[in-house]
Amino acid sequence: MILITGGSGLVGNSIQINNNLKPNSSQLNLLHYNQINQYLQENKVDTIIHLAANVGGLFKNMNQKVQMLEDNLLINFNLIKAAHANNIQKIIICLSTCIFPNEIKYPINENDLLLGPPHHSNDAYAYAKRIAHIHASSYNQQYNRQYISIIPTNIYGPHDNFHLENAHVIPALIHKAYLAKQNNTKFIVMGSGKPLRQFIFSKDLGFLITKITELYDNCEPIILAPSTEYSIGYIAQIIADKFNVDLEFDNTSADGQFKKTADNSKLLDFLKKNNIDFQFTPIEKGLTETIDWFIANYDNVRK
Ligand code: NAP
Ligand code: GDP
Repeated sequence: MILITGGSGLVGNSIQINNNLKPNSSQLNLLHYNQINQYLQENKVDTIIHLAANVGGLFKNMNQKVQMLEDNLLINFNLIKAAHANNIQKIIICLSTCIFPNEIKYPINENDLLLGPPHHSNDAYAYAKRIAHIHASSYNQQYNRQYISIIPTNIYGPHDNFHLENAHVIPALIHKAYLAKQNNTKFIVMGSGKPLRQFIFSKDLGFLITKITELYDNCEPIILAPSTEYSIGYIAQIIADKFNVDLEFDNTSADGQFKKTADNSKLLDFLKKNNIDFQFTPIEKGLTETIDWFIANYDNVRK
């Protein structure tokens, strides 16, 4: 049986895999070691896909450093420790390309993870995730576990959190453009619009995580990134066009790390070696699907 933590979230909703348990945080709160330990004693689990985290965009990472550090340290620590204690051999642990060093030679690859400090805007979240990686690789080295760090880029799609201040850029901008259209107000994009990101559609990531769970045969970290990089301004313009609103940049707001260009050659090799037929969803298609989902589910979305 596969336990998926964070199954109710953006990525968790896109995982299609047989024989899984998907408790939400009120059924299994990972802030409490005893809950996860008891859950693993009571349920026959052999693999964990660990997605649960306190997640947010640039502004949440800047404004809630204590919660981003403490919640993520506890969630990851409890999960990994309890998994080993209950003899679980395999965990897929979700990190993020935003935990890489700020000053680094691009493109970033898997070996660069700890080669320098992360960007100051999200250092609390980044160090919590880095500790999860060290914790997992310590179990791999000492107890021969297969605790694999997967490292996705900026994710978007249906079931995202569309909170105006705390969300990542795509869901925040979709919500802002929607309100600008409804209320005939300005559509403000934070920062200069110049930073670059490799956005991955949640359904693509769900597919890749499923394949890694089934077929990845070692415990080295792997970056899950599309090949194309877009500026925030380019994405904002697509969203503005979909809602038929004009956009305005707020140059007084933070830009965050300028880019995090990640090398996906290890991923492409994995796909090729396993004869997996896969194409990344074009950004325009992924954005259209996400916007349509947001509008159709407006009353119930996280926002
Ligand atoms: P999300 O939509 O915000 O979902 C977070 C999930 O974590 C929810 O299912 C939530 O459960 C669960 N959770 C939070 N606190 C918990 C707790 N104390 N105990 C148990 N479950 C808890 O996040 P996401 O975007 O899918 O992120 C999935 C993973 O990808 C995370 O590890 C994140 O760090 C990583 N990541 C995300 C991005 C991105 O752009 N979104 C980029 C790179 C990496 P409830 O809803 O039941 O509370
Ligand atoms: P990151 O990719 O981890 O840095 O996080 P985000 O998804 O939050 O993207 C941050 C980038 O988008 C920065 O360059 C922000 O200035 C820019 N941005 C523009 N408007 C917004 C917004 O409304 N919310 C967020 N989170 N970022 C925005």
